[in-house]
Amino acid sequence: MAFRCAATSMLSLLEPMTHTDKLPAPKLGEPFLLTPGPLTTSIKVKEAMLRDWGSWDDDFKAMTAELRAGLIELLGPGCDAFDCVPIQGSGTYAVEAMLASFTPKDRKTLILSNGAYGKRAAQTMDYLGRPFELLDKGDYLPPRGHEVTERLQADPEISHVLIVHCETSSGILNPLQEISDAVAAVGRTLLIDSMSAFGAVPLEPSHLNFAAMVSSANKCIEGVPGFGFVLARKSDLAAAKGNGHSLSLDVHAQWAHMEKTGQWRFTPPTHVVAAFLEALRAHKREGGVAGRGARYARNRDVLVSGMRSLGFETLLEAEWLSPIIVTFFCPADPAFSFPAFYDRMKSRGFILYPGKLTVVDSFRVGCIGQMDEFVMTGVVAAASEVLAEMGVQSAAPPAEALAERAKLAA
Ligand SMILES: *Cc1c(COP(=O)(O)O)cnc(C)c1O
Repeated sequence: MAFRCAATSMLSLLEPMTHTDKLPAPKLGEPFLLTPGPLTTSIKVKEAMLRDWGSWDDDFKAMTAELRAGLIELLGPGCDAFDCVPIQGSGTYAVEAMLASFTPKDRKTLILSNGAYGKRAAQTMDYLGRPFELLDKGDYLPPRGHEVTERLQADPEISHVLIVHCETSSGILNPLQEISDAVAAVGRTLLIDSMSAFGAVPLEPSHLNFAAMVSSANKCIEGVPGFGFVLARKSDLAAAKGNGHSLSLDVHAQWAHMEKTGQWRFTPPTHVVAAFLEALRAHKREGGVAGRGARYARNRDVLVSGMRSLGFETLLEAEWLSPIIVTFFCPADPAFSFPAFYDRMKSRGFILYPGKLTVVDSFRVGCIGQMDEFVMTGVVAAASEVLAEMGVQSAAPPAEALAERAKLAA
C-alpha cells in the first residue's frame, strides 16, 4: 500500500501498551481502522484463522462451548440465568433473530430510536409483520425513562421494548439503566441491541432487567466479522419455541440444537470462531469488561481533548459520549472537505468513518479495536497536519451545528 506510512512509527508508539499482549500495528503497512467494526484486530487473532476445523468434530464442539461460556461470563453477576446462542451472519442477522424470536405476534413492541440502528430495528419489525410503536428521538437525542413510562402506561398492548445501548450512528451511550428501570416498573420486557457496547460497557443482569441482548464478533471483543450472538434468559429462550419467522434465524431452534449436539445447525464460520476465541482470551487478560472499557475510555479522552485543541467540536456533550465512537462536526471553513480529509488521513495510516447525521455534516472516529492512547495521539497529530495542508484556518463547526447541539442541553 502506498501511504506515507504511519505504521512504522505506530509500532514504537504502541510499545508502552500496558496489557499483556504487546500490540503492534495490525501489520506493517495496514492502516488503523478507526471504525466501529470491522476493526483493527491483533496478529494473534488473524493467525488463529490459519487452520481448518471440521464443524462436527469434537475439537470444534469444544471451541463452540468455550465461546458460549466465555460470553455468558461477560455478563457478570446474575449470568447463571442466561445462555448464549451464536447466530451466523453480521450483527443485523442476530438483531433480526432476536426480534423474531422474542417479540410477540399479537402484542406490540416499542422501538426506541435515536439513529440508524433504531430505525433498522423498526424496519426489521416491518419485514416481520409484527406490531410495533416507534419512539423516535431523531439523530441523537436520548430516549428518557419518563417518556418510556408514559408510552407504556398509555398503551397496555405494548409488551416489549427495544433499546439500542450505544447508538453507533452518533456514538451516544443511551441511558440503559434508566430505561431498564422504567420498563421493569410497569412489568414489560426489555430487549437490548448492545452490538457496539458489549464487552466494553457493563451490562449486568444484577442491575438490569432484560430478556435478551445481542452483539457480534467484530465489535468490542475485537474478533473478525462472521457471526453475532444472543444472550438470553433461559426461561425466555424456552418460551421462544415456535415464535421464529425463519428457519435460519430461529434462536430457539439454534439453542435447542446446540444444547443437544454441541454443534451449530448450519455451517459455522469456523475460522471466525477460532479467531474469536483468541480475542476472548485477550479480552480476559486485559481485565475483562472493566479493562477493555478503561482502554477505550482513554482512547476517547485523548482523541476528544486533542481534537478540541485543534478547534473541532463533538456532537455530544461529555455526559453522552460513549467510549466506542465519537462524532465530530465538520469544520465550517470552506477549505475543508471530508473526502479530501479522509484521503489524507488514510495516506497517514488512519481510516476514518463518515458521519450519519441528517442535519449537519459530521464524521466519526472509532475508539475500539487494537489501538491505544498513543495511536489516538497519532490520529490528532495527523489531523493537525492535514488541516494545515488543506489550508483550513479554523476547525470550528458552523453556527447551526452548535445550535443543534444546544438541544441536548435543553
Ligand atoms: C454494528 C451494529 C449493528 C449490526 O450491524 P452489521 O453491519 O449488521 O454488523 C447493529 N446495531 C448496532 C448498534 C451496531 O453498532
